Amino acid sequence: MAKAGGPLELIERAIPEPQPGWVRVKVDACGVCHSDSLVKEGHWPGIEYPRIPGHEVIGVIDAVGRDVKGWEVGERVGIGWHGGNCGYCDNCRRGDFFACTVSLLITGISFDGGYAEYLVAPTIALAKVPNDLDSVESAPLLCAGITTFNALRNSGARPGDTVGVLGIGGLGHLGVQFAAKMGFNTIAIARGKDKEPLALKLGAHHYIDSQEKNPAAELNKMGGAKVVIATVTHPGAMTAALPGLAPNGVLMVIGAAGVLSVDSIALISGKRSVQGWYSGTSIDSQDTLQFSAANGVQSMNEVFPLDKAPEAYERMMSGKARFRVVLDVAGRQRS
Ligand SMILES: [Zn+2]
Ligand SMILES: [Zn+2]
Repeated sequence: MAKAGGPLELIERAIPEPQPGWVRVKVDACGVCHSDSLVKEGHWPGIEYPRIPGHEVIGVIDAVGRDVKGWEVGERVGIGWHGGNCGYCDNCRRGDFFACTVSLLITGISFDGGYAEYLVAPTIALAKVPNDLDSVESAPLLCAGITTFNALRNSGARPGDTVGVLGIGGLGHLGVQFAAKMGFNTIAIARGKDKEPLALKLGAHHYIDSQEKNPAAELNKMGGAKVVIATVTHPGAMTAALPGLAPNGVLMVIGAAGVLSVDSIALISGKRSVQGWYSGTSIDSQDTLQFSAANGVQSMNEVFPLDKAPEAYERMMSGKARFRVVLDVAGRQRS
């Protein structure tokens, strides 16, 4: 991106050198995420252009900067949204690294991301990638994956609890798999009958067609949901699920849907709450990758070569991709 609102352009550039505490990564693959539109359109404050987007990166460490400890050339690593934090502000010292007020770094926003053959990143941003995960298949786990995995495991739901996954798209198709593998009674909720076979194949125990039936009423027939993970981008669809929460239930919002209007009576009468969730840090990414490798959680992707990045981006923005779009930067999956 040369400027906000401009086109994605393929350019030749010198291979970057890692500064102290950073590594250089030769990129295998990078997922194309809806948040990349923040860079493309300049909707994130303070972006300096030119800027390379991409925060679902898997590649191999190719060079290490001075003072790098614990990471070596040749290791395969993943890099997600959270690119770093200061470590000394009040929020950092409370462990809320995502809320760093001094130097919050975001991959592909604060520094160049993975729509490139090489990138440099601080070691705090690195996650180890298990050997048996394919880079192209697994790149989306670094944003769509960690977001759903981390929201679910921090939701308060325990194995056996009923958990709804609202929306079967880029986030939801992973959310259903994670929820089922975590041992939740997993209810997939989406519009239309056609998504039911896929939802059940991904591990959902029940499917609610929200066009046909009232999702809250259906959830209540099953005793109500301890948690509903809301991945949709339609605010009305989110709030319609709220009365389907069991007492003390939580609507976990991870889809960016703008303004929600919630029924205060539904909140009060059931001690229900609405919560947002931020993706997570590099160790959360690593946990996501390990859990996925151990339990066979896989992203369903449409794959494009790096030089087709503009087409890949348009495909992602169309909302029609099934389900994530990935740039196969190193060309491993092409013949
Ligand atoms: Zn993302
Ligand atoms: Zn900080």
